[in-house]
Parts: sequence; C-alpha cells; structure tokens
Amino acid sequence: MASVSLDSVSLRYPSGAMGLADIDLRVGDGEFVALLGPSGSGKTTLLRTVAGFLAPTAGVVRIGPDVVADGKTVVPPESRGLGMVFQQHAVWPHWNVGRNVEYPLRRAGMPRAQRAARVAEVLDLVGLDGYARRDPATLSGGQRQRVALARAIVGEPRVLLLDEALSALDEPLRDRLRIELQALTRRMGLTVLHVTHDRDEALALADRVVVLDGGRIQQVATPAELVERPATALVARFVSDATRVIGSRDASGFAADGHPLRLPASGLQGAREHGACEIAILPGDVEIEPTRAESGSAATATVVSSLFGRDGNDVLLDWAGMTVRCHSRTQRPAVGARVDVAVRRAVAYAAAR
Ligand code: ADP
Ligand code: MG
Repeated sequence: MASVSLDSVSLRYPSGAMGLADIDLRVGDGEFVALLGPSGSGKTTLLRTVAGFLAPTAGVVRIGPDVVADGKTVVPPESRGLGMVFQQHAVWPHWNVGRNVEYPLRRAGMPRAQRAARVAEVLDLVGLDGYARRDPATLSGGQRQRVALARAIVGEPRVLLLDEALSALDEPLRDRLRIELQALTRRMGLTVLHVTHDRDEALALADRVVVLDGGRIQQVATPAELVERPATALVARFVSDATRVIGSRDASGFAADGHPLRLPASGLQGAREHGACEIAILPGDVEIEPTRAESGSAATATVVSSLFGRDGNDVLLDWAGMTVRCHSRTQRPAVGARVDVAVRRAVAYAAAR
C-alpha cells in the first residue's frame, strides 16, 4: 500500500474549464478518503489525475515516494500500481468471471497455477466464491460490480480508486456492498480514494472526507468534524442541509438582510467579527410549533413540504420568502400549515467573498 499526495495541483481543461484549483491533499497509507461534492465539483477530475488519465497543468502528484506527475513527467496509469472501479464498469462480456479477474495477473506475467489460486482467493473475498466459470451476462448488477472490485484488488494495488462505484446499484444492495467494501478494504489495509456525490455514503465509509466545490477543497475532515464543525456555510448546506443566511452582526446578535430573522448573540457560534457575515442554521436547530391563533408574529412560517423520517421529520418552511429546513422529532405539520419558528442557534462565518 502507499500514501498519495497532491501539492498545489491545478488542472485546466483544453476548453478552458477549471477542473482543479490549487489542490493540496495528503492521503495516508491505509487511509480511506472520500471525495464528496456536487456534480461538476471536480471529484472525477481529481481521481483521474491520481490515476494518470489526466495530467495536471501545475503541481506535483506522488504515490508513495514516487513522483508520478509534475510539470515534466507523467507516469502512465498502467505503471502506477493502482486498482480502479467505475460506476458502470466494463466487465468484458466475452470472458468468464475468472478470466476477467485474472487479467491484471496475466498482464503481469504471473504463472497459471498461481493465478488460479489468487483468483479463487479474491473471488472468495468479494463474496463470489465458485463464480469463476460464470458468464458475466448471467450476473446481477451488484455481482458484476463485485467482479470489477475483485479485478481491481487482485494485483494488490498500491491504491484503490473508486468513482461512484456503488452509485448505480439499488438499495438495499448498495447498503450491503458499502458494508462489505469497508470490511474488505480495512482487512487488506488498502489506501482508498472513493468518489461519491452521496453524503451519507461518504460519511459512513471514510476515515476522512474531502469536500470539493468548483475544483477547490472546501474542507478536509473526519465525518464527525464535518457534521459538527463545517468550515464554511457552503459545506454546512451541502453536508447537513443547513440554511444559509446573509446578514450582519453586532454586539446584540445577528440580523438577516431583508428578513425578520434576528438571533441573540448567545445563539451564535463561530466568527466573532462584527459587520457583514453569513450564518448557517442546521435543520436540528430549528424548532417549530403550531402557531397560536393570535400570532401575527414575525416568526410565523408556512409549511412547504413535510416528509416523514425514521428519526425525525424533514420539514421545509417558507419563512417570509426564505426557505428554511427543519428537522423535527416532535412535529409533522401538514403542508400549507402555519407554524411558529424558533432558531435555537446558528454558526456564523465571515461573509463569503
Ligand atoms: P464531478 O466528478 O465532481 O461531477 P468533474 O471532475 O467531472 O466533476 O468535472 C469538474 C469540472 O470540469 C466541471 O466543470 C466539468 O464541466 C469540467 N470537465 C470535466 N471533464 C471535462 C472535459 N473532458 N473537458 C472539459 N471540461 C470538463
Ligand atoms: Mg464524476
């Protein structure tokens, strides 16, 4: 296994589109790192840069002690010692499962008897014991994805790269493969870079999560830190459905621009400076209750949607033109109902540039 590091890596596509902007990232040997972000944020670009399908415009990429890309040299993908799985993996349809999985070993010149033993071992690892002679066409999507995973790990890669490898699968199969993927990679001590747009998947699997937006790293943190201490309001919104509000603060608290929301200083965490700032309100910090008849209060909102959840209801509010997300364990109001809103606390950030 090996570590991966990127130093000041930027990548501009020939079209002029900025794929990556000044990425600094260190992935430890044996670490499982998820790359998370909205569509177009640069996740695939980053992964393909590590893989060697894309060459950075600037910066240095290392795998273990080896420089694999800098301004001058680019080591080709097949010489980087990597395993890869993509969303719709091309499992060769004219080869049986065993031959598919064996391919990297054959390319590496491993003798036949040794190959057969190793293939059997890896098929067992991914839960496909006895499938070596099967025609891929007779397998389910989940089984084909396991074949792809087996092929990616059979040659004991230095790093395993996964690009939305589970995203095309249906629940509950995806859920089961997540569990197996984590168990398998931990057992083998694999270094993993796992691209996903699925927040829960990233938080569930990774030792650390890299949040990307616009080709830039927004935050690198453990799942718990990401949820408890989002570095920017944007991360709070993407990871935890926080509501972002622009306004200003003074000694008494926060006032939203053009909105009745006021928050006392005691309810504010984060940046201390007075003046323009933005706040992120986490859904769990918004309390609602049925509005009292006499209430013509500034804190009355209309329910836009009200979704049931196992551990609380997901309620969307229109509060004087602002859309606010609320996670309520006690209330599940009807759509169109009027409710009183109380914001318990919010995190303040220096105003976004
Ligand atoms: P993600 O995987 O997070 O959805 P990508 O890495 O695919 O994002 O894309 C990042 C940015 O680079 C986007 O703005 C996208 O339009 C652009 N991009 C991706 N691939 C190409 C390409 N081959 N040519 C030009 N621009 C591209
Ligand atoms: Mg992608």
